[in-house]
Amino acid sequence: MNFKLTDEQQEIKARAAEFADREVAPNAAELDAEDRVPFDTLEKMAEAGFMGLCVPEEYGGAGSDFLSYCLLIEEISRADAGLGATLAVHTSAGTMPIVVYGTEDQKARWVPELARGDKIGSFALTEAEAGSDAAAIRTTAEKVDGGYRINGRKQWITNGRVAGTMIVFARAVGGAEEGVTAFVIGMDAEGISFGKHARKMGVISATTDDVILENVFVPQEDLLGEEGKGLRVALGTLDFGRIGIAAQALGIAEAAFRYATNYAAERTTFGKPIAEHQAIAFKLADMQTKIKAAQLLTHEAAWMKDEGARHTEAGARAKLYASEVANEVAHEAIQVLGGQGYMKDHPVERYYRDARVTEIYEGTSEIQRLVISRAILKERTGSPAGVEGSRPVVG
Ligand SMILES: Cc1cc2nc3c(=O)[nH]c(=O)nc-3n(C[C@H](O)[C@H](O)[C@H](O)COP(=O)(O)OP(=O)(O)OC[C@H]3O[C@@H](n4cnc5c(N)ncnc54)[C@H](O)[C@@H]3O)c2cc1C
Repeated sequence: MNFKLTDEQQEIKARAAEFADREVAPNAAELDAEDRVPFDTLEKMAEAGFMGLCVPEEYGGAGSDFLSYCLLIEEISRADAGLGATLAVHTSAGTMPIVVYGTEDQKARWVPELARGDKIGSFALTEAEAGSDAAAIRTTAEKVDGGYRINGRKQWITNGRVAGTMIVFARAVGGAEEGVTAFVIGMDAEGISFGKHARKMGVISATTDDVILENVFVPQEDLLGEEGKGLRVALGTLDFGRIGIAAQALGIAEAAFRYATNYAAERTTFGKPIAEHQAIAFKLADMQTKIKAAQLLTHEAAWMKDEGARHTEAGARAKLYASEVANEVAHEAIQVLGGQGYMKDHPVERYYRDARVTEIYEGTSEIQRLVISRAILKERTGSPAGVEGSRPVVG
């Protein structure tokens, strides 16, 4: 067993950390306050090769492995979790499904621009009536001559209004197969408009928007995967996307831990630094231990993906645990700072707000527990149904 990162992984982590400290961290509070996407930083990330880090070189990416991508998400999220969300959705949800499920023609037409960062990717599954229960989506893709006409409304789409492409899930009607189907859409297609811009608690520098699709024509060649088999695309995408969210959670936790540690070493009460009061020192010990455990789960899941092994449950465990650790650590970091922790003068209140969504998007913690418990029961009983029937939960 070898826990050491490869030379390339260490180099990417160091480069990402240096970039995050220099280009990302100084702007994070302002972007959070102003609800603004940092396009200039995204351009610099594109120049650094970060917008397509785990995309194969033949499609314009850097060709690094998925673990390297997770290290990048971790470092960027340590500085600005909103930018981490933008990057994670762009890469694992907006670009990788085309790499994994696309035809050679689709990969050649869509992926290079995304991998170079010329366009930002997005992923539109959720609707007002369909989140965890993705099979309940109502957006339709009616079969017409040469393609499909898509009608519906997607809710809370990360990168929505700044995206150049969107992976859209709609219910195919009138074709050979009815059911949820995936498509790649250019955001310049006629009939796309934007509804509500979500005003959020955290990850504010990532834009989150409702996307309205009115009679949007999608040519046959932009059907992603098979007609009626779109849930496979969604499930497969979230299987690895969740590992990226675990990495985002790790980044937030690490930021909170470092800030709290530095503060505890400086702040004095009763004649000594608060870090020397056992109550505070033990908090730091617990925070670090939990982060290390979450990191092991996350890196193991990413490594399994890189090995080509099944990583559904490993990814769910990593996301479940890392997101809960991020929330616990951010909570404790505020406690370490006392009243200062509650003030906007320090970043820990932002970490606390940013951490919360990692327990919700790309599958809530309840859904991760369903994925994990179904697998436990399936192993025991051999039944695919397990907990609460076999309906897929994706979210
Ligand atoms: C900031 C943000 C960005 C997002 N970005 C995107 C995006 O880019 N693309 C996209 O498609 N979606 C996106 N989403 C949507 C996100 O994936 C969903 O919010 C999430 O999957 C949960 O769905 P829901 O909100 O409808 O909750 P619901 O499904 O209504 O769930 C409500 C509660 O019930 C629980 N629950 C539901 N079903 C079960 C069950 N079977 N067993 C036990 N508990 C259950 C849930 O865990 C939750 O606690 C985003 C959401 C947020 C907040």
